[in-house]
Amino acid sequence: MKLKVMVDQDLCTACALCYDEVPEVYVDVGDGIAAVKEEVGGDGAILDCAEIGQDVCDRVLEITEECPSGSLITEVVEE
Ligand code: SF4
Repeated sequence: MKLKVMVDQDLCTACALCYDEVPEVYVDVGDGIAAVKEEVGGDGAILDCAEIGQDVCDRVLEITEECPSGSLITEVVEE
């Protein structure tokens, strides 16, 4: 599976959920606002779940549903 991961920072309410639950992918870039880590490719990165770990991808998908402001945008680009 491959996932494209993005954060709409204009919507982010700095709740900390995503970078607390999936620190491999998301980071606090200041004032609690989330971003996709540069280490994994930054905003719009394609995560290869075989490389980063299926457990990480599963948590990305879960947290995308749980983000209270709908700021996390995740697309399955390859099943
Ligand atoms: S879970 Fe959503 S609202 Fe909370 S910090 Fe992450 S992107 Fe922002």
